[in-house]
Amino acid sequence: MRLCAECGRPASLRSVRSGEESWLCPRCADRLAVVFPIGSFLASLPEPERPPSACPGCGMPQGEWRRTGLVGCPVCYEAFREELFAAATGGAAS
Ligand SMILES: [Zn+2]
Ligand SMILES: [Zn+2]
Repeated sequence: MRLCAECGRPASLRSVRSGEESWLCPRCADRLAVVFPIGSFLASLPEPERPPSACPGCGMPQGEWRRTGLVGCPVCYEAFREELFAAATGGAAS
């Protein structure tokens, strides 16, 4: 677990200032008005041309329901409709 460089609380935000990496908790990041490098943030996002890999409603990853047998929210039914339909019909339909 990373600790905040400012206050020692559990940190969840990585900041890079003049090439030096440090970790901050949300409170200190807010207090210090840290600007996070947008490049790495965008790089972590899925490519927009690809189909959604997670439910827009609850953020459940695509295919997660296969493991758990559960969907996270009603939006999942829409987001994973084709997948769920294929599974419900034995996976033969395509
Ligand atoms: Zn802090
Ligand atoms: Zn969902």
